[in-house]
Amino acid sequence: MSEPMTAIQDDRLPIEQGDEALAEALLQRLFPLMRSLTGAGVRETHDVLSGLAPFERIEVPSGTPVLDWTVPQEWIFREAYVVGPDGRRVIDAAAHKLHLVNCSVPFRGTLSRQELDAHLHSLPDRPEAIPYVTSYYAPRWGFCLSQKQRDALPEGDYQVVVDSELVDGAMTLSEALLLGESEDEVLFSSYTCHPSMANDELCGPIALALLCRRLAARPQRRLSYRFVLLPETIGSIAYLARRGGHLKERLVAGYTVANIGRDAPFRIKRSRRGDSLADRAVERLMASGREDWPEAPAEVVPFEPLGSDERQYCSPGFDLPVAALTRGEPDFPEYHTSLDNLDIVSAETIVRTVDALEALVDLLEANRRYRNLKPEGEPQLGRHGLYPTLGSRNDRKREVRAILWLLNLADGTRDLLQISEASGLPVTLLAEVAERCRAKDLLEAL
Ligand code: ZN
Repeated sequence: MSEPMTAIQDDRLPIEQGDEALAEALLQRLFPLMRSLTGAGVRETHDVLSGLAPFERIEVPSGTPVLDWTVPQEWIFREAYVVGPDGRRVIDAAAHKLHLVNCSVPFRGTLSRQELDAHLHSLPDRPEAIPYVTSYYAPRWGFCLSQKQRDALPEGDYQVVVDSELVDGAMTLSEALLLGESEDEVLFSSYTCHPSMANDELCGPIALALLCRRLAARPQRRLSYRFVLLPETIGSIAYLARRGGHLKERLVAGYTVANIGRDAPFRIKRSRRGDSLADRAVERLMASGREDWPEAPAEVVPFEPLGSDERQYCSPGFDLPVAALTRGEPDFPEYHTSLDNLDIVSAETIVRTVDALEALVDLLEANRRYRNLKPEGEPQLGRHGLYPTLGSRNDRKREVRAILWLLNLADGTRDLLQISEASGLPVTLLAEVAERCRAKDLLEAL
């Protein structure tokens, strides 16, 4: 049986020690909690993350109809264990939260080894791993354990205690809206419904809370940013029931962020539209051979109606510009087992992910449209003080190239991303040069 894990009782997070120390403290603090679609472990997770960024709570009452679904009852978990024939606890959710089938209904009774077996889940091909099993929408109870542990259970009577309850309560979501100069919004979404698994899901919400904290601290934002943390599927459905109309009007780009704690290249799943700003921006940033992209090139895959909350954001009635960002394959070897633990993720990778997302934000912030105010013939750069005289010969050549591309394609219809795509030059360089041309009245920003 795994070692018992105890939650850190001290809620003071090492905010002054930087993002990596903070990410590490959050991993330790939040990993042991019993998260599910609903309940105290979810609320505690949101409480802790709300200490970092201006999240506001949305509690959707049980029984609320949301699109084609209904918000489930709230699951209250107290304890769950199985006592073996020798009087010892042989399975105990206090030792690992995955030992209990998530959302199990209450049960107390004495069962034979054979009767108990009908309620047990293990993985014969991964004999060391405890599987992650949920029963959200069918009332049942069960325990999960490693195949090794299961094989070692002797014949005899077993006393089973599942001290849980399903009550009319609420489902917990959090959102943070960081307003910018424009009402155009960028969405970042992750989920908070998996207990005691690190890559899927804990690293996702930690990364978004850290990113939200950085963006909230910026004195200026051109775009508005919306961060949401919610239980997977039913949470995004409930969120869309509430905000879907607004998002259809305002959302220019969005990303679901999950499974980002393992050191693997980014993987971009395109939005259903495939060519939205969300797709173009992230693909441009994470493309191969980019000087301003410090990581390995991302793998880009087409949209498919499988996966996480992008299924809801990209359902045909909303068809929002939301792409899915992960690191590596969604079915990584430790997926949905106790092997997805703190050993396979790192605070350093979480912070590199936050850096990458912030670079994406910088790109979106810089991605304006400009119009050339002197489009007839090329302006004489030297006369406008735009001919570069500083830097290496290559730098100067590149800068002139950027100015020429910009002045030629800035016709008011193309954004900097399109000019970057055409020229191969980074958006950040084009943005820098564009602002200099604007200061000389050669361009206007739209
Ligand atoms: Zn999952």
